[in-house]
Amino acid sequence: MDDPEAYGEVEVRFMQPYQAVKTYICPNCNRDIPPGTGHWVVVPVDEPDLRRHWHRGCWDGRKTRKRGR
Ligand SMILES: [Zn+2]
Repeated sequence: MDDPEAYGEVEVRFMQPYQAVKTYICPNCNRDIPPGTGHWVVVPVDEPDLRRHWHRGCWDGRKTRKRGR
């Protein structure tokens, strides 16, 4: 699984449904994020080219799991 925090500090932005005009692939579950779906954009501060689009549930669930360890 792609872990953006491996690159250091990340900036997380919310992409509104009306802004999502393309299909993206979520690196957590490798499924499509269809156009019109609000989701997170995760951008490593030092490597902005490596930004990834995550389902809301995937990103939020990942954080919860991490906190539980
Ligand atoms: Zn996902």
